[in-house]
Amino acid sequence: MSDGGLAVRLAEVRERISTAAARAGRSPDDILLLAVTKVFPASVIRDAYELGLRDFGENYVQEFEGKAPLLRDLPEARFHLIGHLQSNKSRKALELFQVIQTVDSPRLAGRLNESATPVEVYLEVKLSTEESKHGALPEKLAELVESVRGCPRLKLAGLMTIPPWTEEAAQSRPYFNTLRELAERVNLTGLSMGMSHDFEVAIEEGATCIRVGTALFGKRRKP
Ligand SMILES: *Cc1c(COP(=O)(O)O)cnc(C)c1O
Repeated sequence: MSDGGLAVRLAEVRERISTAAARAGRSPDDILLLAVTKVFPASVIRDAYELGLRDFGENYVQEFEGKAPLLRDLPEARFHLIGHLQSNKSRKALELFQVIQTVDSPRLAGRLNESATPVEVYLEVKLSTEESKHGALPEKLAELVESVRGCPRLKLAGLMTIPPWTEEAAQSRPYFNTLRELAERVNLTGLSMGMSHDFEVAIEEGATCIRVGTALFGKRRKP
């Protein structure tokens, strides 16, 4: 059973997506809504699946390892890792996730390329100077792209970034714009950018995947 609150919030988010897409002259069908379910129990993912969501973002390999066994019967669900991945957890991550959005080094790419089945990846780019943020530096991107393109098991979907946190959505715009320019330079079309508070701006700047947690599921407790 899904709670009515989620259905209402999902309708609101879809409306916001449509409005932003219309403003940018884009089709909402070209924007993947990735439902970010970190910290929430497996039951919330089931509720969202019932409402039609198919792509789910999780941050922690270990946390999702606990939920995954409860979700085996959702045939069309695709799980994306959107949190930092340490090389020593790459094997486990490959068992759990269909998409890894946080590839940030040739070394990690090499580890993921040991996968038995093809895996979709995004390269995380660090555009913020915050110490806590991960990702490849823009000046290292061309080299990373080249090494991922040399990995037959990895399907390179695009770039991903997390701008510095700010209340003011407009302040994310230059970061989104930079990510798009970087992607063009290396011939990639996928752009994973934008969260609950700034996804409209991301859509205006070309996002093809927005990662939305709070606007769908409400405030998270700290993990
Ligand atoms: C938690 C998280 C999100 C979702 O953030 P909200 O503000 O709750 O929408 C998106 N992307 C990443 C990488 C996250 O860690």
